[in-house]
Amino acid sequence: MPKAISKVKLIFIGVGGGRFVAERQYPPFYTGGFRIHTEKLKIHVDPGPGAVLRMAELGYKAEDTDVLIVSHNHMDHGSDANLIGEAMNAFGLEKLGVYVGSKNTVYEPHCNNIVLPYVANRFKATYFPAPDERLSFTHKGEGIEMKTTPIKHPEPTGWGFVMNIESKKIGYTSDTLYYEGLGARFKGVDVLIANVAKVKPSSWGQHLTVKGDFERLLAESQPKKMVVYHMGEEIIHYGRERLAKELKKAYEVKYDVDIYLPISGDIIEI
Ligand SMILES: [Zn+2]
Ligand SMILES: [Zn+2]
Repeated sequence: MPKAISKVKLIFIGVGGGRFVAERQYPPFYTGGFRIHTEKLKIHVDPGPGAVLRMAELGYKAEDTDVLIVSHNHMDHGSDANLIGEAMNAFGLEKLGVYVGSKNTVYEPHCNNIVLPYVANRFKATYFPAPDERLSFTHKGEGIEMKTTPIKHPEPTGWGFVMNIESKKIGYTSDTLYYEGLGARFKGVDVLIANVAKVKPSSWGQHLTVKGDFERLLAESQPKKMVVYHMGEEIIHYGRERLAKELKKAYEVKYDVDIYLPISGDIIEI
């Protein structure tokens, strides 16, 4: 009998991003990253401010994390990584977990790294893939394959990724400006979590925008599901529901895609 394919759950702990949202914490957006749960593994991606608190409020435990991923060395992506990193390794007493991070999250040349060496040393295994590199490892009997994707963002070692897990493909752009070929890197993923932080382009922040980037990213990547993630203050003020309505109307039929703007606590199954 072939093994039944189990569902993969995406759990949004926080959905906001950028320094203003990270430092002002707008409910029900918050920050704190997202989790990927399979039958065997619990993965936390980009635990920004409030991750541990929101997890406690939502009924998740920081110590129930097997793999910690920090895509780049910015506070809105990793300020709670130290707490989760310690908790998931038997509160610092036993090397149990896996860390995957951009090089600068631990080895920033001017010591502005978001993850403390003390915490990085608590893991059973650590990986620091470069942008555009393949990484595969097995942890607790579950195989994970990742291909990191380059970002155009002020963190030279940072990346997004395409992850193959449980026969599912999850794409995450992380923070980036649009560049030629960005969408093609995520072609055909089951879900693309796109850090579309702003409505209109501006010189500030180096992020994807709704006007200008969203449609070309969608057209190039053709995911089954597109998640607008890492919503910045401009999007929050514009109105999540208003934006969701506009994006769904304009693109869902045209590109045969489900468009989704989550709030903190939302879960989707793929
Ligand atoms: Zn960010
Ligand atoms: Zn960033």
